Amino acid sequence: MTSEFRDQLYIGGQWVPPESAERIEVENPYTEKVFGHVPAGTAEDVNLAVSAARQAFEGWAATPAGERGAALGRLHQALAARAGEIAETVGRELGTPLKIAKAVQAGLPLTVLSGYAEMAARPEPDETIGNSLVVHEPAGVVGAITPWNYPLHQVVAKVAGALAAGCTVVLKPSELTPLVACLLADAAHESGLPAGVLNLVTGTGQVVGASIAGHPDVDLVSFTGSTATGRAISHAAADRIAKVSLELGGKSANVILADADVVKAVKVGVGNAFLNSGQTCTAWTRMLVHRDLYDEAVELAAKTAAGYTVGDPFDPATRLGPLVSAAQQDRVRGFISRATARLVAGGLDAPLPATGHFVAPTVFADVDPDSELAQEEIFGPVLSIIPFDDDDHAVAIANNSKYGLAGAVWGSDERALAVARRLRTGAVDVNGGSFNPFAPFGGYKQSGVGRELGAYGLAEFQQVKAIQR
Ligand code: NAD
Repeated sequence: MTSEFRDQLYIGGQWVPPESAERIEVENPYTEKVFGHVPAGTAEDVNLAVSAARQAFEGWAATPAGERGAALGRLHQALAARAGEIAETVGRELGTPLKIAKAVQAGLPLTVLSGYAEMAARPEPDETIGNSLVVHEPAGVVGAITPWNYPLHQVVAKVAGALAAGCTVVLKPSELTPLVACLLADAAHESGLPAGVLNLVTGTGQVVGASIAGHPDVDLVSFTGSTATGRAISHAAADRIAKVSLELGGKSANVILADADVVKAVKVGVGNAFLNSGQTCTAWTRMLVHRDLYDEAVELAAKTAAGYTVGDPFDPATRLGPLVSAAQQDRVRGFISRATARLVAGGLDAPLPATGHFVAPTVFADVDPDSELAQEEIFGPVLSIIPFDDDDHAVAIANNSKYGLAGAVWGSDERALAVARRLRTGAVDVNGGSFNPFAPFGGYKQSGVGRELGAYGLAEFQQVKAIQR
């Protein structure tokens, strides 16, 4: 296994010493012990990484599609060889239960990367509009800033899309989960990705993140994280009119219509809300239920939540791991302690393992749609259940949010689809439709700007040029 004590940054195709000797320790949120560290990068490290990315840009942008696709294919191979190590690393730095870590934290980015390798090899042909030839060109040097909740997926969604488009990248992963990003840099190095095409600078958001967002030679900032940080990044990029794409928070509604299969809708709904201990931006944290099904849904949701096995992420029986940090645990506990709705499962007094930043799977019923519980992104295993009278009422409650990322609707197919079309969100699952890693992903309203994944994600990293003849 690779060392989890990292002392170097990956810049210009080499692991190099950082400017400063300062480090960031990485804690295991289950054992509450430090098990690794990474360099705390500086603005000077960012300058070096941006200039390496700039130097590499022209060559990478001009690389023929077949060769670029093959390079991404080799990167995929090198990353796939590390799948077991990726899952265990995410299990240690984030606390995701191992089974989910293998399927989602390691499996999903590999699927996304292989899709982009194919897309890079077969780009869309140029388009003719009247006397114009319309060509797609890479946007330039991309600054990628990512959060901790799906630490490799969020990195790969940006890096693979950007590289497939012909951009070069300076990546800053979350300081809470930087180790899995180091495995990507290892894979890039081993696969022979040209020097400077991918650069990694670990460090804090205040120093490394802000230096990337405000850097005059970064053409596009691609960010995933909280809405508050997204706003700061937008401001920084606005000064030089740089492109930004933002994937931000959510407060998604799971709408269970009067003619829904309520048992399936509630079981899948609770599973979605508590996936990754509720630390999922698309989590269906508001369960909206028609009054005729309401009591049954509340009882079933409470029972399902109470049946979750909470504990050691490396124990195969565990369904719910800890939250990422003590700060996140405090934040989530704060929301629970301030809530005035009816607690039907979990809460602050439920028994929990002796160590680890745990919050018990918690369900509130009769939640006021305007209350903090129903309006704010909690980012923990807390589900709010809200009754509604008819489809129009359900749509009004669902859309009563500053966010617009995802959602779900359950009911007879035509009716559910009609409601899905009325939700002001970037994605909606109807009757349990599964996540599609090639469909556009992103938010309406304060959930973001732009789209990731698939062809729409690739287009974010391109400029369009019209050549008149
Ligand atoms: P965060 O905004 O605190 O941090 C995200 C990244 O930004 C980190 O790498 C951090 O170091 C960096 N950062 C912090 N301050 C910065 C600054 N001033 N300038 C530049 N960079 C800065 O978010 P988080 O706590 O890591 O992640 C949780 C949040 O992310 C949740 O709100 C969640 O909804 C959101 N999220 C959204 C999506 C999505 O695709 N929509 C996906 C996952 C997470």
